[in-house]
Amino acid sequence: MDYISTRGMAPTLNFEAVTLAGLASDGGLYVPARWPRFTPDEIAALADLSYVETAVRVLAPFVGDALTEAALRTLCAQAYGSFSHAAVTPLVRLDAQHWLLELFHGPTLAFKDVALQLLGGLFERFLAHRDTHLTIVGATSGDTGSAAIAAVKGRAKIDIFMLHPEGRVSDVQRRQMTTVAAANVHNIAIEGSFDDAQRIVKALFADAELRSAYNLGAVNSINWARLAAQVVYYFYAAVRLGAPARAVAFSVPTGNFGDVFAGYVAAQMGLPIRRLIVATNVNDILHRALSTGDYSQGIVTPTQAPSMDIQVSSNFERLLFDVGWRDGAAIREQMAAFETRTAMQLSTAQRAGADKLFSSARIDPEAMVEAMRWAHDHTGNIIDPHTAIGLAAARRTSDLDGPIITLATAHPAKFPDAVAAACDVHPALPARLGDLFALPERYDTRPATHDAIKAYIHAHGTRIG
Ligand SMILES: *Cc1c(COP(=O)(O)O)cnc(C)c1O
Repeated sequence: MDYISTRGMAPTLNFEAVTLAGLASDGGLYVPARWPRFTPDEIAALADLSYVETAVRVLAPFVGDALTEAALRTLCAQAYGSFSHAAVTPLVRLDAQHWLLELFHGPTLAFKDVALQLLGGLFERFLAHRDTHLTIVGATSGDTGSAAIAAVKGRAKIDIFMLHPEGRVSDVQRRQMTTVAAANVHNIAIEGSFDDAQRIVKALFADAELRSAYNLGAVNSINWARLAAQVVYYFYAAVRLGAPARAVAFSVPTGNFGDVFAGYVAAQMGLPIRRLIVATNVNDILHRALSTGDYSQGIVTPTQAPSMDIQVSSNFERLLFDVGWRDGAAIREQMAAFETRTAMQLSTAQRAGADKLFSSARIDPEAMVEAMRWAHDHTGNIIDPHTAIGLAAARRTSDLDGPIITLATAHPAKFPDAVAAACDVHPALPARLGDLFALPERYDTRPATHDAIKAYIHAHGTRIG
């Protein structure tokens, strides 16, 4: 499979190169040159397969000849062997129409593990093939850092430097990162905010000397391999509820548009999806874009669903490209306008293309709490604030027949205060995380400056050139 950039000016790459590259050299995002298609018979045949076998079938066309089927199977088995539920992503019935797809049974209790556990193995394999070393640098406000660290800890030819704002992540989130003992994991608490951390990471990537000396890499959701891994659970869930004979809908708690774009990919591959509901919190740039065509950045309001507190959704560019006749020059112009004015309008073709599959809802804090209470009181399920936003959007969508599956993106024990405030119950951390508060922590604190972090990487990193 060949991958092309949404901005039309970067070289075409294969799956191995696209996995290691992250962002395209023209500033765009990589997408497959064409969508692979499954016939209804091929989709029906998935219904009897385990999660790992489903992953092998769904991922094979994206991987192309970058891996043998046996190698892909080994990597999937290793990635999903770390999940605590036999089904990997189990479906839970709430009522006659509503279901949850629990994506939080991985090592760090959020859906990001589904993609990152596989990405860690892909990195290791491809770095061995190229005989080179990768230095991952990232900034985290909580969930991404722990999932990325869990994915690459102890792996050969990889170092990870993860910056978090000192004192501004929860104790559980910090300990999930700082209690990992592997020598290739470097946690840095910076004396500043998440925005400072992100600014420093951008500056490090812009530093050409550092970038090539350490082969800097990223693990954020612009990485195509992460999206591909997320396509799998749309198939896995839909065939269990009757696809391809019956179409299903999904409601997706959305921030960077990565998870819900994976649903769009599944639909392009032939999975009958009736609707994809984009659920946002009050940081509603995507709801405004999909309902009025106005993609304009607002001010980020902190909420109880922090992983959705985003006002620029990087992966939206992939949708705009695909529903806008795959016109790289037009995307270049549109994104340049957005970068200078922090606002742009969707074209008529883009709006019409998006309307075919997507609808959206903006869920305020009251509706989020109401959904948490409804799930608890009427179905006995405790759900986290992100999942509640998805469920509220699903329950508000009254014009759909057939099952609606809400993606449950985080374990409720990751957000115990919000759960306790809404439902008066205290979700316990799963036993496998039980010793988190007994383990020693390991991290260094540094000023929030580019120079301080660069010096830290020089002192602790692995130079390749
Ligand atoms: C990252 C995250 C989201 C948002 O997913 P996107 O792919 O960025 O849209 C939703 N819920 C949780 C718990 C997350 O960690």
